[in-house]
Amino acid sequence: SIVVTGATGHLGRHVVEQLLEKVPADRITAVVRTPEKAADFADRGVRIAVADYNAPETFDGLFSAGDKVLLISGNEFDKGRVQQHKVVIDAAKAAGVALLAYTSAPGSLKAALVDDHRATEEALVSSGLPYALLRNGWYHENYTENLAPVLEHGAVVQAAGEGRVSSASRADYAAAAVAVLTGEGHENKTYELGGDEAWGFAEYAAEISKQSGKEIVYNSVPLEAYIGILTGAGLPEPLAAVFGGVDASIEKGELVVAGGDLSRLAGRPTTPISEAIAAALKG
Ligand code: NDP
Repeated sequence: SIVVTGATGHLGRHVVEQLLEKVPADRITAVVRTPEKAADFADRGVRIAVADYNAPETFDGLFSAGDKVLLISGNEFDKGRVQQHKVVIDAAKAAGVALLAYTSAPGSLKAALVDDHRATEEALVSSGLPYALLRNGWYHENYTENLAPVLEHGAVVQAAGEGRVSSASRADYAAAAVAVLTGEGHENKTYELGGDEAWGFAEYAAEISKQSGKEIVYNSVPLEAYIGILTGAGLPEPLAAVFGGVDASIEKGELVVAGGDLSRLAGRPTTPISEAIAAALKG
């Protein structure tokens, strides 16, 4: 089987949808915490397995020898994600899966939030399992799902200076994952995944202006001011610091991913940011 954890998350849903276009539904297993959230998949014949990264025993016997598994990194930053991911790696090792693919972060990114990814990569590589590291770059949706304040204030406010980012849509990253899960020859490979075109926030603001007909400027603020704006808007301080750190990384060019691994795996160009803006403005 092809087994996908985090299947009811944003990325996981795209992966399962795209797998359904390529393989019979009964060859796909969606690993979920809340089966009610996967009812639509079950209706279409996808197998559902219920498990939680925080409860190792729920992964006992979940995988079979020869499975190809996608471990989608968790989002519980306060619960020890490395340990959570190791639960999945250990269960996959015990079963003897054919491939364990992991959604990581670009090798060039040095922000604090990558520590969990690097430690998970090390655990996976040293497990001896055939692995694939899908080092996903930034999602377009990180920005385009937050257009309301931009339109309201007429400004894109970031602390990234002239930095550029090679973002792509979640659907693009899902296509790469599906290619790895359904294709051959991906064992022990590391893919640096990002959009074909890097862009900066001034261009991003100009594109929103063009499409919305409203004047939108890019307001690049110092890091401390940016963190203050985020906490002022109600974000907890640690999370605001993480977002600030990401902008500092963008300014240094750490989220520019070159090399074309993503479009090569997907077999098509990546989605331009302008398309993601258009989709978001349509609602
Ligand atoms: P989501 O937050 O939508 O999905 C996270 C998934 O992880 C959900 O399916 C969630 O389950 C599952 N999950 C979390 N904790 C557990 C647990 N204890 N046991 C089992 N499953 C768990 O994120 P996305 O799909 O958008 O992105 C996937 C991952 O990529 C994120 O979790 C994060 O690690 C990383 N990320 C990458 C970004 C990028 O720009 N490249 C941006 C943001 C995150 P449930 O559906 O039950 O909630």
